[in-house]
Amino acid sequence: MPDRIFIKDLKEYIGQEVTIAGWVDVRRDQGKMVFFDFRDMSGKVQGVVLPASTRRQGEAGPKSGAMEVAQKIRTEWVLGVQGKVNKRPEKNINKDQLNGDIELEILDIKVLNEAETPPFDISSDGLEIGEEHRLKYRYVDLRRPRLAKNIKSRHKVIKFIRDFLDQEGFFEIETPILTKSTPEGARDYVVPSRLEKGKFYALPQSPQQYKQLLMVAGFEKYFQIARCMRDEDTRGDRQPEFTQLDMEMSFVEREDVMDVNEKLLIEIVKKLYPDKKIQEIPFPKFSYKEAMEKYGTERPDLRVNKDDPDELAFCWILDFPFFEKTAEGGFTFTHNPFSMPKEEHIEDLLNEKNIGEILTSQYDIVLNGFEIGGGSIRAHRADLLKKVFETIGHKERDIERDFGHMLRALSSGAPPHGGIAWGLDRLIMILQNEPNIREVIAFPKTGEGRDLMMDSPSIIPEKHLKELGLEIKKKD
Ligand code: ASP
Repeated sequence: MPDRIFIKDLKEYIGQEVTIAGWVDVRRDQGKMVFFDFRDMSGKVQGVVLPASTRRQGEAGPKSGAMEVAQKIRTEWVLGVQGKVNKRPEKNINKDQLNGDIELEILDIKVLNEAETPPFDISSDGLEIGEEHRLKYRYVDLRRPRLAKNIKSRHKVIKFIRDFLDQEGFFEIETPILTKSTPEGARDYVVPSRLEKGKFYALPQSPQQYKQLLMVAGFEKYFQIARCMRDEDTRGDRQPEFTQLDMEMSFVEREDVMDVNEKLLIEIVKKLYPDKKIQEIPFPKFSYKEAMEKYGTERPDLRVNKDDPDELAFCWILDFPFFEKTAEGGFTFTHNPFSMPKEEHIEDLLNEKNIGEILTSQYDIVLNGFEIGGGSIRAHRADLLKKVFETIGHKERDIERDFGHMLRALSSGAPPHGGIAWGLDRLIMILQNEPNIREVIAFPKTGEGRDLMMDSPSIIPEKHLKELGLEIKKKD
C-alpha cells in the first residue's frame, strides 16, 4: 500500500486524507451510515461511511459506490481504506481508548481480501472457548488482543535479553538441531537418516554438550535462545518443544553465574514490567535441605500475598544431592550428569564413596512456586565426568561411544565453566499472568503433543518410508 499510515499514528494527521490497511474488527450498519472498527498491528480506529448526501461544499465526500461496498463488508475482511482523519465531537470522545478522540471519515474502500465468518469470537480473552478449537484456527486466535499482546511482549523480553547479554560481552551462537542424544533425563525425539539407513539423529533436549564445547573452544561467554525437544508425556505447562535462554560462562564460580542471571531478571522486571514488584532483592537462597524442611518442596512459592498478580517472589535453591537411587537399586543423576560435585565431595565421587551424600554445584531459580531455570558448574575434568557416568552404571564401552567426544574435549584444555538455562515460556507465562505456557507460544501443541492446525504428527507416504529404510509395524 503506497503511503500507508499505521493506525496508531493517525492522530498526527488530523484534517488530512490518509490511507490505512488492515482488518475489519467490528462493523455496525446503521442504515444511512456504516461504522467500522479497523485494526492493524498497531491498534484500532473507528471509521464511518457517511451517506454521499452529507458531502460538504467543496469536499470530496465518499467515492460513489463506497456505501455499497461498505454494506457488503463483513468482519475480518482485509481492506485498504482511504479517509479523512477528523476530530470527534466532544460528546463522542472516549479518553480511555487509542484513537478515542478521532474518527476516520471513509472516502474509498478497496477490498484486499474477503474472509469467511471467523470460527469464534476474537474480541474476548478467549478462555471461554474450547482450547482445541482455538488451536485449530490459531492464526485467527492470535488476532485476539490478549494473545497478540503476549506474543509481542515475548518479543520484547527476548530482545531485552539479547541486548543485555550483548552488553555483558556474551556471544549468541547457534548449535545444531540434528544431533546426538544428550541425556537430560527425558526421551529423545529422533530423525531417521536417509543416507545412513538404520541410523538416527536425535533432536536436542538442550544444547548442553555444545555449549560446553564452545567453552572448550574459547568463547568464554555464550548464550542462545534455544529450542529444546523432549519426548515426555506432555502435561500441565509442558510442551514437546520449548524455548530456553541457554547460557554458559568460563572461569566462573557458581555465584558469578547466579549474579548475572539475577541482575538480568531484575532488569527485565524493572524495565518491561514496571507494575510488578519483586518481593526480595537480593533473591533469597536456600539449600535443598532447608527448602524441603521449611516448605516441603524444592519449588517454594514465597509470595506473601498469593492473590496479587503483580507480586514476584524469586529464590535460589542450592546444594542438591547429585545422585538419587533408582528403582533397580543403582543410582541416577538428579539434574545434570555434566555437573561438578561440590568441592568437598569430589574425593567421594572419585572413590565412589557415600554416593547418596554427594552434593552437586547445581542451582535452580524459582519464581512464585515454578522452577524457571537451573544450571551448574560443570565437571571440566575428564576423569570426573567419566566417574559420574560410571556411578550411574554406564559401561566403559558405552561411555566411549556416547560421550567420547566430551571426554576428549575436556582433555584438550577445557577451562572451568558453568552455566544455566531458563524455561523462557514459563517465565513469560508468569510475567504475562497467564495460566499456562500455551498462551505465550505462537503455535503450541495440545496436551497430547498434537499440532491441530497442521494436523501433525501425520503419516508419511510409503515412498518416503522406503527411502528412509523404515517399515511401520501394523497394529494388530
Ligand atoms: N541443560 C540444562 C537443562 O536443560 C541446563 C543447564 O544446566 O545449563 O536443564
